[in-house]
Amino acid sequence: MIQSPLLVVATRNAGKLREMRSLLALPGLRVVSLDELAIADEVEEGPDYAENAVRKASAASGATGLWAVGDDSGLEVDVLDGAPGPHSARLGGLMHTDADRRRTLLTLLAAHPRPWTARFRCTMALASPQGTIDLVVGVCPGQVIPEERGAGGFGYDPIFLVEGRVETMAELSEVEKNRLSHRARAVQALLPVLQSRLGLDAV
Ligand code: IMP
Repeated sequence: MIQSPLLVVATRNAGKLREMRSLLALPGLRVVSLDELAIADEVEEGPDYAENAVRKASAASGATGLWAVGDDSGLEVDVLDGAPGPHSARLGGLMHTDADRRRTLLTLLAAHPRPWTARFRCTMALASPQGTIDLVVGVCPGQVIPEERGAGGFGYDPIFLVEGRVETMAELSEVEKNRLSHRARAVQALLPVLQSRLGLDAV
């Protein structure tokens, strides 16, 4: 019997993992998490999305001998010169919750006139067991708003209004977020790479 290829998703962020499982639900592909394999993740340190994504994917692939995908994402706000960007997960300190980070961001923005135009950016790396890397990027434009709306998603979703929509990312259904988000767009760009590298059927 031919075994479907296994792909490790290198994240411990529960929201990201849920979205990645849904985005990568492809015929002939089995997705596994770091928790299922009981391996540690690589903590991202640097100011560079691509470097962080490659580090996460390479560490997971190196520890398992499997294909692995890692992503580094962030929210770039124009009046803050692109901050918090790659530091989005650590805004205000490592011990902060998502809600703390949203409050910190809104405090930083309070002195600036609106609209607070912004974009989510996701850089995704696919690491092969042989150590080769493919990189793709997905971007979702919009603006930060001063009040929280919606209970879906995670992170900065309740204060991010998606361009061309009246909803925040947290007000979109999971299906809609997985069509419009930066991560969805990165996975779209990754699909042909996965098909050719792992020999998956076209979808
Ligand atoms: P990282 O890629 O795990 O470093 O995540 C970067 C930061 O951006 C984290 O604080 C996440 O909460 C936030 N983030 C990443 N993706 C999303 C998203 O889809 N919605 C809201 N926040 C996100």
